[in-house]
Amino acid sequence: MTITYEYEGALYVNLTNRCNCACVFCLRHGKAQGSIYTEDSLWLEREPTREEALADFLKRDVPSYREIVFCGYGEPTYRIDDLLWLVDRLKECFGDRLPPVRINTNGHANLIHGRDVCPELKGRIDTLSISLNSSSAAEYAAICRPREGEAAYQAMLDFTRKAAKYVPNVVMTIVDKDKTPEEIERCRQIARDLGVRLRVRAFIDS
Ligand code: SF4
Repeated sequence: MTITYEYEGALYVNLTNRCNCACVFCLRHGKAQGSIYTEDSLWLEREPTREEALADFLKRDVPSYREIVFCGYGEPTYRIDDLLWLVDRLKECFGDRLPPVRINTNGHANLIHGRDVCPELKGRIDTLSISLNSSSAAEYAAICRPREGEAAYQAMLDFTRKAAKYVPNVVMTIVDKDKTPEEIERCRQIARDLGVRLRVRAFIDS
């Protein structure tokens, strides 16, 4: 079972395969076939406990990485309580030597948990990378196929606005594939209006 893995000098963490979306481009569709990031599949036969995840971290030279990234095949904020518990334990172990912590997320944590988790991110999470994916709720729903339908789009925008009060570096991302310059500019404006930055990522074919 792969819990932590290295990628381009960062330490990635895979705590869950659960997700409320089924994005058309999701690498989870590859499941047991492995991934572009590791030789093993990131498809977990079961979710690791937080103690198992901590033990996996502590096998490594954690301060040597440039960043810690909660990501994985799935939406990491499903396990926000365990994720933040892990960050607290790592801060206890490594203090100022702990690399910056990022969560790659679909921005649905508040939707998933039915509460505002943003204040809990303060002082624990350095960067949030939130998938914007589209400038319209209808297209977003078609691409990401969230269980909650088009309402998930506004929930993601609301989460971004709230999270920006507590997390120093919040970035929204889109993938450049099939995006016109006009669509990219609309996405840039949405991010600007929320007080965050837009990052346009190159499409990676899994
Ligand atoms: S939100 Fe992320 S994990 Fe979930 S289906 Fe989309 S790409 Fe996959």
